[in-house]
Formats: sequence, structure tokens, C-alpha cells
Amino acid sequence: MTEIISKQDSKSNGKIGVRVYIKDLSGHIGEEITISGWVDVRRDQGKMVFMDMRDMTGKVQCVVLPNHPEAIEQVKDVRTEWVLSVKGLVNKRPERNVKAGVLNGDIELEILHVEVLNKSYTIPFDIGGDTREINEEVRLKYRYVDLRSDRMQKNIRNRHKVIKFIRDFLDTESFIEVETPILTKSTPEGSRDYVVPARLYPGKFYALPQSPQQYKQLLMTGGVEKYFQIARCMRDEDTRGDRQPEFTQLDLEMSFVKREDVIELNEKLLIDLVTKLYPEKKIQQIPFPRFTYQEAMEKYNSDKPDVRENKEDPNLLAFCWVIDFPFFEKTDTGAWTFTHNPFSRPKPEHLEWLMNKENIGGILTSQYDVALNGMEIGGGSIRNHNPKALEKVFEIMGHSLEGIQKNFGHMMAAFSLGTPPHGGIAWGLDRLIMLLQNEPNIREVIPFAKTGEGKDLMMDSPSEISEMQLLELGINIKKSS
Ligand code: ASP
Repeated sequence: MTEIISKQDSKSNGKIGVRVYIKDLSGHIGEEITISGWVDVRRDQGKMVFMDMRDMTGKVQCVVLPNHPEAIEQVKDVRTEWVLSVKGLVNKRPERNVKAGVLNGDIELEILHVEVLNKSYTIPFDIGGDTREINEEVRLKYRYVDLRSDRMQKNIRNRHKVIKFIRDFLDTESFIEVETPILTKSTPEGSRDYVVPARLYPGKFYALPQSPQQYKQLLMTGGVEKYFQIARCMRDEDTRGDRQPEFTQLDLEMSFVKREDVIELNEKLLIDLVTKLYPEKKIQQIPFPRFTYQEAMEKYNSDKPDVRENKEDPNLLAFCWVIDFPFFEKTDTGAWTFTHNPFSRPKPEHLEWLMNKENIGGILTSQYDVALNGMEIGGGSIRNHNPKALEKVFEIMGHSLEGIQKNFGHMMAAFSLGTPPHGGIAWGLDRLIMLLQNEPNIREVIPFAKTGEGKDLMMDSPSEISEMQLLELGINIKKSS
């Protein structure tokens, strides 16, 4: 991304005391203004003290000259990362000191008065360079310090821009963003649930959503037609690789659509997003190539193939769609389970097999995944909104009619009360932003990430709760032997 912070009014009218953003200083040459921010670098040269000041918009060199003894006294004890308000005179630098191509390379601030807003001990690690070289546990413990580094600032600001772009795009396409519950119901749907004890109902639990899947489908029953959400998803999975217990999806669902409609909309959104926000990047092939699951496995031995023609180029984005996945696969115990999503519809020509529960291994689903440079960045399907057909899916997986009713009765009921045909998709937003920002893992684009083992080192979580809380919840902790 080229421009990190777009033009914004710093609400400055040039009067002393009104804060000016550092990026706007060049518009105030010859004026006395105030900036606020952090001391980035401090160089004491005896008679003169130089200080680079930093705010969210950039950096500027400040200097205390010998003819301002009061200011010299004020900056005597100031150290890097202190938070200051600095009143000063914006001067043009002498020609020989101009640094071309650098923000404020042609000006400096002559310090007249300093107010200390907050002091700082020496920070636990240097944020002047690439903090990826620092021990990650230390970075996560002091994440708020790490976030001040240039690279992390860019990551969180560009993350905001990507999300804003998505929101604006979908709004223009008549989608609305709807929030769905965080306290929901545990259903056997894929991953392990995080559960929350319900104090008012001893022995009962809420579950945190693995995704808004059921709610978004019920929004289609509710007549919303075009839904999206920047949604947090929680999955209690064993720690493996680059995963987080909670992550963010762009989740969307549309009524009265076919697979082509969903694919087309998402492809356009991805292309527009890259073109507008990451013009330095090149999309290898438009329209995105498509592979059936079988082709992908045969040709690339992967269901998220890396189709890049040149893997050395960090700015090459090779998107592709993978379609026609098998609906079911065998578990270790020999039972059938779904490969992607139990709520998907089989391909129309395979619906009869589903209804007759025959050729189960041969049934293909309407699922479509989108991969980027060898990573799955999204997946979705056209849904099975026929209650009888949905019942068959659960029957094949060995659920009793009673169990289906208990776990999914609300879906069956909705699908018998006027649900339009619908389909959707969810993107793994952290992963997409990681690839766009050329970062090696999703923790770099998640402001407050947990460790690979699921710990929040900054908050020291998970943590014990008090005896009183346990008592209220009616929970006894078994001591492990
Ligand atoms: N809810 C699905 C998931 O989280 C995505 C979808 O089918 O829309 O993978």
C-alpha cells in the first residue's frame, strides 16, 4: 500500500496551542504550533538537543537551540518514548540539511516549550527496526509497545483500510452488515466449541460461534437477502501451525443466487480491493482459474494449489477457485462425515443419491474454495434449504432423528417456514491481509494476537477465576492426578 494515512484535516488553524498533525507541518512554515506524540530518537549534542517526534501521521526532527534556555532545561531529562506536547516554530531547513523524499525532510521544529504528558522507562525492546527479529513472546507481552513500530502501524492501519473497502463495496451492492450472537449454542458442526457456563442455568452452557453459519442462513429466512459481517470466529482446536483460537472472517450470504453469482461477486471484490489498495501487486490471471477438486489433486496434489508462475515475486497474487469437492469422507472410525459444511447442497445432479443415501462417496457438493498463493483464503457453498434433504445429510453421518431435532431443529423449522434458496462464503480475513502485507504469519496482522499455544501473554490469559466465581457457576475443578 502506498499511502499509509490519507489526507485528513488536523483541525489546525495555525494558532499556538492547537495540535497539528506531524504530516501537516510543512503547511505551517514560519508559524508557532504544537505537536503531540512520542520521542522517537533523542540526540544530545551539548549545546543543542535534537529530538525526532512521532505521531500516528509521521515523524519530524525537532531541535532545542541555545537561545531557548527554558526549553533546554525542559528537555534535559526527556528520554525516548516519553509522550510530549511540544510547542515550536516550524522552520525551513538550510539547503544542505534537506533530506529529499522523506516526510518533513525539508523542515524542522524549533522547540520553544515542552510539556511532559507521560514518562517512560526504557522500553523492553527496540522498535526502530524490524521487530520480527525480536523474541516474539516479549513482543506479545508488550504488544502495545510493538504496535508503535512502523511495520505494525502499517499492518493495523492497512487492515482497517481493507475492512473499510469491503464494507463500502458491499454496501454499494445492497448488502447490510448484521451482528449475530457471540453467546450461542453448541452443535456438532466441525471443530471443538469454546463454551461458557450459564450461571442462571446450572449445568448448561453457551458456545462461542465457530462461524455465524446458522445465523446467517436464518437471516435469509428473515428476509435480509444480502448479509455480511466482519465476524469473529472461535474454534478450540489443537494448536497447529499458524492458527489462533479466535480469528476474523468476512462472512456473507445471499438469497436467490447460484454458485456463479457468489463467485462473480467475490472475485470482483478481491480484484477491486487489490487494484485500489495494493496497486503495486499483480494478479496473475483474471478471471481466476478454476479447478475441480480432482484436477487440483492430480495436478498440484493440493486442494489449495499454489499456481504462481514465479514464486520469488512477493507482489504476485495467484488466485484460483476449487470446486466440485466430495460432500462426505470417511472418519478414522469408518463413519461418514462432511468435508466442508453440513449445510451445503449437493450438486443438483447428485441430489437423488443423497435422498436415497446411495453412492455416498460419489456425491459432490456445491462448495467452492478460493485459494491465494497456496493458501485457502475463503470457502462457501450453495445451501441445502430443503429440510428433508438436510435431514438425510445428518442421517448419513449417523445422527438419530431425535439428535437432529435437538441440535438442528431450529434450522429444520426455519426451512419449513419460507426460506429462499441461498448461498454464501466466508473469507479468512487475517490470512488474506497477511498475504497482502507480505507477512509470514497471521499474528503480525492481528493487533492483540495470542501465541501459537493460545495464550494471551499480555493479559496473562487463560487464568484462574476466583472460588466465588466457581461457586456461583456451580463448577468444581477436578484436580488432575
Ligand atoms: N461458515 C463457513 C466457514 O466458516 C463458510 C461458509 O460456508 O460460508 O467455513
